[in-house]
Amino acid sequence: MSSLHAPLLAWYDAVRRDLPWRRNQDPYAIWISEIMLQQTQVATVIPYFERWMARFPDVQTLAAADEQEALAHWQGLGYYRRARLLQEAARVLAAAGKGFPRTAAELLSLPGIGRYTAGAISSIAFNKPEPLVDGNVERVFARLTGFGEPKPSLTRAAWDWAAVHIHAERPGDWNQALMELGATVCRPIEPDCAHCPVQQVCLARREGRVERLPAPSIKPMTIAMVSHVWVPICGKRVGVRQIPAGEWWEGMWEFPRARTDEEMRELIPGAWPETAGSFRHSVTHHRILVYVARVRLEREVEGLRWIDIDEIDSIPMPAAQRRALKRVEMLDALG
Ligand code: SF4
Repeated sequence: MSSLHAPLLAWYDAVRRDLPWRRNQDPYAIWISEIMLQQTQVATVIPYFERWMARFPDVQTLAAADEQEALAHWQGLGYYRRARLLQEAARVLAAAGKGFPRTAAELLSLPGIGRYTAGAISSIAFNKPEPLVDGNVERVFARLTGFGEPKPSLTRAAWDWAAVHIHAERPGDWNQALMELGATVCRPIEPDCAHCPVQQVCLARREGRVERLPAPSIKPMTIAMVSHVWVPICGKRVGVRQIPAGEWWEGMWEFPRARTDEEMRELIPGAWPETAGSFRHSVTHHRILVYVARVRLEREVEGLRWIDIDEIDSIPMPAAQRRALKRVEMLDALG
């Protein structure tokens, strides 16, 4: 065991990156950072994390904050459900008034906290011997042990391996060392095996299988979709509506959107759409072709919230909706 533990921890102690959430063991800060880091690069997360912590420095402040403000602070990170669940969990914690749970089992009962995040908070903030597995740990595990099966077998085996190898005295550092190795040395492409602290015990390196591990996942088929977005303008105001529950980006704001032109005409009857072009964007494995149009209106139609165009940046909107607005603004630029 020490053939893995000692060199990896020594390497981590020497090279660990100075990241804002590593400066203390505040479970709230670690929680926020871990949720932000899901699906998002470290460099992107840092300014978001700092702004978030300045505005919502603890559970109580987040619990008491307006949801729209929390979403606005998340804007640009994507996967907005994460922000909503953070606030939901903060409210549960604030209402219970018992402080931050310390064990992974207790943490798992909170909204939005899965096995990985529970392991991260418990091990890093409270030094509990809880394992964690993310994409980096999965890759390091597959290469070190030569495990050749794809997900979901890979994930299951990685969790078992992580639980067996958790460091009893320094579980938080150990977990972070594994993730750091995956992020900076045992990278998906062109891993730096020559500078790897555990190259002596790596089966994939010994057997020349590094580039073939981990085994690639079977990707879900891409689904093509079409969406029509109309930007209604009345004087200097634009009409938006809140995205209903159960849809992507629920609770945020959007311009009227439908699957067909006909549906749009029912939403805004009597309008004359001026085409503003189209663009493509992806959500999970959906590839969406978005047709954008501007509609100028004499009167503000009911059923929409009308806001000053200068205030549009202050409400939380999905990135695709902002792209649609840019298309419309380009119409004016083109005359
Ligand atoms: S030797 Fe190479 S493949 Fe093995 S763990 Fe280190 S970086 Fe990854």
